[in-house]
Amino acid sequence: MELDSHGVEQRVATGALPGWEAVEEHVAAAHARSRTHTDGAVADYIPILAEVDPELFGVCVAEVDGEVHEAGDADVPFSIQSISKAFVYALVCEQLGHDLVRERIGVNNTGLAFNSVVAIELNDGHPMNPMVNAGAIATTALMPGDSPEEQWEAVRNGLSRFAGRALDVDQVVYASEAATNQRNRAIARLLESYGRIELDPLAVVDVYTRQCALLVTARDLAIMGATLADGGVNPVTGEQVVSPEVCRDTLAVMASTGLYERSGEWLFEIGLPGKSGVAGGIVTIAPGKGGIGVFSPRLDPAGNSVRGQRATAYLSRALGLNIFASAEHTVSSRIGRNRNQGETR
Ligand code: GLN
Repeated sequence: MELDSHGVEQRVATGALPGWEAVEEHVAAAHARSRTHTDGAVADYIPILAEVDPELFGVCVAEVDGEVHEAGDADVPFSIQSISKAFVYALVCEQLGHDLVRERIGVNNTGLAFNSVVAIELNDGHPMNPMVNAGAIATTALMPGDSPEEQWEAVRNGLSRFAGRALDVDQVVYASEAATNQRNRAIARLLESYGRIELDPLAVVDVYTRQCALLVTARDLAIMGATLADGGVNPVTGEQVVSPEVCRDTLAVMASTGLYERSGEWLFEIGLPGKSGVAGGIVTIAPGKGGIGVFSPRLDPAGNSVRGQRATAYLSRALGLNIFASAEHTVSSRIGRNRNQGETR
């Protein structure tokens, strides 16, 4: 057994998914039960996103053994948007380590919108966490590489390793956002003014904008999530993408901040780390079990897919994924322990 950085033997306890058939049935049910919901509106602050078919809806679960279950439009590509933040964060943590990233980026929820400028001002110029735009732009700035081009390649390669296939940019989405992202450029300039970005802030925003325009499917998201659920090993390719410690740290930040100002409600209803994007994707991770990828473009006011949240909530309950849920102790759960064996309630 390995010692962690505190010299403690690491133990991990997560439980298991139900059998293959049950997961298959519940993925189909999650899709069927949520598809009739038409609440919410597609994002339009990035002009091209408003042109999507709002009825698209895909659900996918990837298990840590590599099994994949799909329903609906699980193979329709869309731009990853803010979901990229979680994976770029993991790559930066892998390079720079837990302490430096905690100090530079932070791990606390802002309680404010993902593109809040006020959050930066309220916190003395600190970007607060990697899942809001300020922290994500500061995180992208920490990617390895001697030029924006090298940093971009590191982002694209890293996210592709999580997905287990080469991801490409949607050039139309990139151009649409690059022409209208004055707010992100302002955020980067503000961070620069506080000494929080050492590179050319506009070049960093450009890498960040390309990162957000990478095309993924619900299936890709499920596999990317399953990699974070599997100690950093992509369960389809078998590649170790990041370390187990980096997965643990990334999931902690996703749990507290992944759904922006609605992260508390998300944790209350679903009880798992997740990350949403404004194109309508959400990735959710059940540690030790698998990843869930969902896609449907209509969003709630915080920018989270409405159907995606419903489908994920159903799967969390039906597959027993909520990390806060427990059942009463029974004698069988004591087998293998030395003390108090045979004690019953
Ligand atoms: N590219 C988008 C932005 O920076 C991502 C936002 C999101 O998905 N919430 O505004």
